[in-house]
Amino acid sequence: MNEIFSLLEKNKLSRTPCRIEVLKTLKLAGSALSEAEIREKIGDHFDRTTVYRTLRSFLKEDVIHSISLDGGGVRYALSPHKEVAHSSHHVHFFCNDCNSVYCISHQAFETPELPKGFMAESFDLLIQGSCRKCKK
Ligand SMILES: [Zn+2]
Ligand SMILES: [Zn+2]
Repeated sequence: MNEIFSLLEKNKLSRTPCRIEVLKTLKLAGSALSEAEIREKIGDHFDRTTVYRTLRSFLKEDVIHSISLDGGGVRYALSPHKEVAHSSHHVHFFCNDCNSVYCISHQAFETPELPKGFMAESFDLLIQGSCRKCKK
């Protein structure tokens, strides 16, 4: 709990019940969650708009990051601590069997060098396969 409070404090976000619940849920999940999954897990104490706004404020402060999937799905996960990986570039793993997305966050890496005149705005690396739970 203290960790959640300090995360909010560090990013100058007030402790609203919804923010606390969303962070707790993402912390416990162990894999990235869709907005619908987050809502399902925190129950119906908060309406859609509140949850949506909470996610927006977290994205803005880089408390969480989003992972876009083929087919338009978006998942959210806590961002790696800035001290560990000062860029938020890290590998994501998508399980083709259970559709879970994991942050392989300790494996930070540099953006590949681009040709002169090119400027990167975002960079995603998604590995697909089967996760520990689904490996046959
Ligand atoms: Zn799996
Ligand atoms: Zn991630």
